[in-house]
Amino acid sequence: MAYRRFAEIVLDIPLNKKFHYKIPPSFVNQIGIGKRVKVPFRGRTINGYCVGLVNESNVESTKDIIQVVDTKPILNSKMLEVAEWLANFYFCGWGEALETFLPFVVRKGFETKTINVARLCKDGASVKDMISAIKKRAPKQARVLEALAEVDEMTVPELASISECQVASIYRLRDRGLITLEKRQVDDSLFTGKHFKRTYHLQPTKEQDRAIRLIKDMLRERKHSTILLKGVTGSGKTEVYLQAISEAITLGLKAIVLVPEISLTPQTIERFKSRFDRVSVLHSSLTGRQRNNQWWEIKNGKADVVIGARSAVFAPLENLGLIVIDEEHENTFKQDSSPRYNARDVSLVRAEHENALLILGSATPSLESYHNAVIGKYEYVTLTSRIGHKPLPGVHIIDMRHEVYRGKKPSHISKYLELCMKQRLSKKEQVLLFLNRRGFSPFINCRRCGFVLRCKRCDISLTYHKKKNAVICHYCNSDEFVPRECPECCSPGINFLGFGTERIEEEIRTKFPEYELLRMDSDTMKGQYSHEKALCAFRRGDIDILLGTQMIAKGLDFPNVTLVGVISADTILNLPDFRASERTFQLLSQVAGRTGRSIKGGHVIIQTYNPEHYSITYAVSHDYDGFAKKELEYRKQLYYPPYGRLARIVLHGKKDQDVKQRSMNITEKLREAMKLPADIAQSDLQKAEMGILGPAPAPIAKVKDRYRWHLIVKADNFENLHMVLKNIENENRRSKKVQIIIDVDPYMLL
Ligand code: ADP
Ligand code: ZN
Ligand code: ZN
Repeated sequence: MAYRRFAEIVLDIPLNKKFHYKIPPSFVNQIGIGKRVKVPFRGRTINGYCVGLVNESNVESTKDIIQVVDTKPILNSKMLEVAEWLANFYFCGWGEALETFLPFVVRKGFETKTINVARLCKDGASVKDMISAIKKRAPKQARVLEALAEVDEMTVPELASISECQVASIYRLRDRGLITLEKRQVDDSLFTGKHFKRTYHLQPTKEQDRAIRLIKDMLRERKHSTILLKGVTGSGKTEVYLQAISEAITLGLKAIVLVPEISLTPQTIERFKSRFDRVSVLHSSLTGRQRNNQWWEIKNGKADVVIGARSAVFAPLENLGLIVIDEEHENTFKQDSSPRYNARDVSLVRAEHENALLILGSATPSLESYHNAVIGKYEYVTLTSRIGHKPLPGVHIIDMRHEVYRGKKPSHISKYLELCMKQRLSKKEQVLLFLNRRGFSPFINCRRCGFVLRCKRCDISLTYHKKKNAVICHYCNSDEFVPRECPECCSPGINFLGFGTERIEEEIRTKFPEYELLRMDSDTMKGQYSHEKALCAFRRGDIDILLGTQMIAKGLDFPNVTLVGVISADTILNLPDFRASERTFQLLSQVAGRTGRSIKGGHVIIQTYNPEHYSITYAVSHDYDGFAKKELEYRKQLYYPPYGRLARIVLHGKKDQDVKQRSMNITEKLREAMKLPADIAQSDLQKAEMGILGPAPAPIAKVKDRYRWHLIVKADNFENLHMVLKNIENENRRSKKVQIIIDVDPYMLL
């Protein structure tokens, strides 16, 4: 290799640029692209990544590299390219983008844990002699020998605890040559002791066959393309993924499967693990050591398939041929802290760089993906019928405006839902109730003056949690006593309005005292395996009614669930977010998919105050295309995605005035860059292809004592969006006074 004099280094700091460092002669053979280095920077030694080697540098006085950390490159050139794209696309630091490829535990060089295992040196008879010889003088050591005489070997901590002695006694025995100690690696690998019964390909249905054939053809071509696989829940998408992966492996290629965190259950993992030998899992609830092990297993080429949540898109596979994203519409693929990437878009870019095939699967595709399929950018395949031709469940809407107060207390369960529950439960069938809001009462107001109790730090209404008898802020989690009188006018009339899972639980328990109910939300599911345990109990039939938040909306397959009730379809619909209708439609479709999985059939009841809203009516008729058509019309009028591209800029700081001022300045800069006339009206901007909405106080105007403002930049395509945003890229985004977040393609607008 030609001798290069300078290395291009990306530093572990929030800057999107590379720096030149001199390669001292002693490092010439060690330096390489994709290796980590230590370099001097502003009087400190910091970490960096080598992304290039050059002969010339126009930098005046370059400094020497201090250390080359890796012997082999830890990142390959394709990963470096994707990281560079990530930094540019999402306006984050380049170093930060590179770090998405290296989990924290890997960067820190997690040591594998070892443990000492003790064994006897002598045979049984001579040990007996030994024990009686030392029993008086060294009773502890004798106990250790006794314990060891009964087994082959034992770890030192176990041995110490069984023979009730200090570890020192054990070491003394070793020093006397009576036992040996051997260092062994602790095996806490993920699948130790687990056996997976081998499963084989199922005979595909006609529709599956069509999809599988297309996928096989595309994999063999070995060039990048994207397929949108739209199939209702239970139509056999996962079987298609499995056969696609199998083909990739046959071709010597590797695969990544991304699923939403919440669907990454042991059952999901088992479906892949039982079909393929070499499967690694990247999951946020792995221990640090397991995570580190899995990562190195993948890096060392020991995995054909990686299955994981969002961040698994960065798995260090070589020869990547296939990426599958299940439930591609899920917003959990978008990371809501920096770098604010969407794993779906990163997958697309990674697949492009690797000449890999990308399969996006969903029952209710995101409108972005659907649009791309319709205009022919993606291949489009559909699975229209459920396996075994089980019919989709019948869906009923209950107009809650007509459900007046029944009895003394307001009821949140309609007469009809109550009746249907009775019928199903009496036949020993199970009921699933869904409500996307936890707690007892999300609004507490004063009957006299209307004052609403809000979190002083976050400016959102506080939720009453009855069991704790406290009001809790769902943003900062701080809690307060429930006031006995109105803090504003001192009247004693405190009202608890609205409802969350806790209140519904109480109502159901009163109405159905003879049935077992389990509530599943983040308040009740705090233990590590509580989620799993609860679902197991439900599956066994120990529970009749399962009530929960979005935790229960996904991927669960319970044949005995014949009734699903949506307590309120309005919780998302009323959010100030242009995706509110889309998310409502998706959620209702998904919840509805939880039933009708067996011959007993299924029934869905949706309660709402907006019964004529199209996102609800189309969900009722299971008409995705109808919904998409209507929603796309609205999006087109306002140039919202997929027609226009958005970035959201959030500013926050301790003083409202500072934040407001900075928002105005930023807006001014962006307006100039867009060449917008200063006097253009907001209403015109709303309909324009290029424009800025705001600045305005964010819908959640204060979080943890920090005031928040936001503005939304809209452009006709990503190139133009980026051109505009470039103008504020080098603003000081981390000043003490006001911090600035740039969120490209935002999913949270609150
Ligand atoms: P989806 O991922 O679309 O929700 P799944 O792949 O989970 O659907 O399939 C639903 C059920 O149908 C599963 O129990 C699966 O084992 C079964 N299944 C899928 N394909 C076939 C097939 N070709 N023949 C028989 N059963 C199938
Ligand atoms: Zn009052
Ligand atoms: Zn708060």
